[in-house]
Amino acid sequence: MNEIKKIPDSPVCYIKGVGEKRAKLLEKLGITTALQLAEHYPRGYIDFNETTAISDLVNDGENHVVKAIVTKKFPAYYGRINIFKVLVSDGTGDMLITFFNSDYSFTRLKLDNEYCFYGKMAGDFLRKEMNSPVFIDSQDPNKLMPRYSLTTGISQGIMSNCIKNVLRDFTFPEHLSDTLMDKYSLISYDNALRWIHFPENKEQYDKAKYRLTFEELFLLQLGLKSMKNRKKRLAGAPMESKSIDEYYSSLPFTLTGAQIRAISECCDDMQKSVPMNRLLQGDVGSGKTAVAAGAAYFAYLNGYQSTLMAPTEILAKQHYDTLYKFLAPLGVTIALLTGSQTPAQKKQIRQLIADGQIDVAVGTQALIQKSTRFSSLGLVITDEQHRFGVGQRAALGSKGNEPHVLVMSATPIPRTLGMIIYGDLDISILDEMPKGRLPIRTYAVDTSYRERLYRFILKYVNNGFQAYIVCPLIEEGVSEKAAATEYINSLQNTCLANVPTGLLHGKMKQADKDAVMQDFKDNKLKVLVATSVIEVGVDVPNAVVMVIENAEQFGLSQLHQLRGRVGRGTEQSHCILVTDNKSDYTKQRMDTMVKTSDGFEIANEDLKLRGPGDFFGSKQHGLPQLKIADIYADLDILKMTGEAADDILRDDSRLEKPENRCYTEMVNNLFENAPNA
Ligand code: ADP
Ligand code: MG
Repeated sequence: MNEIKKIPDSPVCYIKGVGEKRAKLLEKLGITTALQLAEHYPRGYIDFNETTAISDLVNDGENHVVKAIVTKKFPAYYGRINIFKVLVSDGTGDMLITFFNSDYSFTRLKLDNEYCFYGKMAGDFLRKEMNSPVFIDSQDPNKLMPRYSLTTGISQGIMSNCIKNVLRDFTFPEHLSDTLMDKYSLISYDNALRWIHFPENKEQYDKAKYRLTFEELFLLQLGLKSMKNRKKRLAGAPMESKSIDEYYSSLPFTLTGAQIRAISECCDDMQKSVPMNRLLQGDVGSGKTAVAAGAAYFAYLNGYQSTLMAPTEILAKQHYDTLYKFLAPLGVTIALLTGSQTPAQKKQIRQLIADGQIDVAVGTQALIQKSTRFSSLGLVITDEQHRFGVGQRAALGSKGNEPHVLVMSATPIPRTLGMIIYGDLDISILDEMPKGRLPIRTYAVDTSYRERLYRFILKYVNNGFQAYIVCPLIEEGVSEKAAATEYINSLQNTCLANVPTGLLHGKMKQADKDAVMQDFKDNKLKVLVATSVIEVGVDVPNAVVMVIENAEQFGLSQLHQLRGRVGRGTEQSHCILVTDNKSDYTKQRMDTMVKTSDGFEIANEDLKLRGPGDFFGSKQHGLPQLKIADIYADLDILKMTGEAADDILRDDSRLEKPENRCYTEMVNNLFENAPNA
């Protein structure tokens, strides 16, 4: 019996106060072992130190702590609901406290004893009241009371007791090295677990939080960084230094400093003995394609082929046009491979690629990946790949003989975060917009402006320009298609009734989407009504108005991406955010959109307002679930753990030394629960 208790892996049902029934309930919270119970950290605390005098108490819907003496216990009332009342006083005033059905709380409260009560004020300033407050004896040294995520059948009290018991019955072995603990002043794991649940004061909480956050981020970084090391193989296409001045001077514009820097980072990488593995991050319109073309030209000068893969046919076509314009004058041969070509055409193009007569092959991912052979593939470029996780990236680059890889993304992830999430990639950032762009004018309005809005669109349409209208899903259960169709029908009763309008929604086949997009690109359609699926990266410079309905339903970064569909030409563009939501939260976000057009700033703001989980659309980034660390709030610790991980990997890049074995296991555990990693 004693023996089992020393092993924190033992099933949770053996813990005093748990038993079979509660064990089943705890399983819903992902808790099956003693250790998992101990690692069920509080999601917050009641701080009983933060008291408010009864005279200052206001009925503001917030919770308050009152430290007061029980001056009277009223006789209990037993009825359909049992009611227990006590009067308390703190010298500044009296307060009436009521418990319903809880004679347990009532009996615990002793006359003339002092307690700290936590709850919302009820009543008014004449008679202050509190219903069913949480309370502790004012002499209790533990002034921070943990609050846990719960499930039906497990109350705060039960959870708290079970955790007390697990902490009493077990000791939790240390797994960080002494060196690490000394260097970063970390308290022991066992101690940290005790203090994170039941800190006597803020200092204990801080130390425990720091230790546990450190460990979690340390393992995360160790995992990502060792993954990066594992992937370092010999480059299949080592290149030599070549001047690409000719490329620079043949362009119809001057590259931005950021573009030049990114191109030279790519060229440097491609001369190394390990393959390039680089992420090119840049806001919509920052000119990523020109960077890709520069890198492809460098590969061409070195005698290697490149391929650029896009997620959709229309984007592939667009890239082909751009690369053709940039590179064909320099003698580079470029081919486009798409699904709509005839089998004979495809076969012929594939043959040319295999024979090495094509220098740059552009196409959809599926087409290039499936059955295209290259004679000397040196560089693989993918566009708009922010949706894929750590694991999927490993699969890329299997084409050719360890080619260099450049991934382009328009998702502006704050640099520090990017370094973690794309820990296995190096990053180039385009943080500078091409000169002469007119910033998009952004407004936030409510639905009473809709008629004016439509007239505004009509004015632009009559002048030859185009507009997007984004309509999100409004009610649950209504299909995307139905919502969008209904919206487009409603336009029949407005001044836009006779304007050629297209519809784009997520349930359409890719070919149908492409066809609508193409018509819009060709200016056959003047207005495009779409759910949020408007193809990322599609360039229609003639579209100058973007209307986003129910703007409050979108994240800031998403709004920014949508807005980036306009402002691509020389005409002043406008983005109109429509919302009837009046909450502070919405207002703050709309203000941010109106105020700034900097994607990185918006991403930061998004992260602050919503937290990293939401920011990445929870499951998109492929990172493990973190129990206590918050990548954004814990940036300092993140930096420290990065160094700590580097220190270890410097001597043991694959975590193979015996003293580091335990880390390998913990890293594996951490990443085991990572989505799609
Ligand atoms: P994104 O980064 O969103 O993929 P693109 O590569 O599509 O951006 O570039 C957007 C537009 O800006 C294109 O029309 C491109 O030709 C143009 N462009 C790129 N770089 C510059 C520059 N330095 N100066 C002016 N225009 C540029
Ligand atoms: Mg692009």
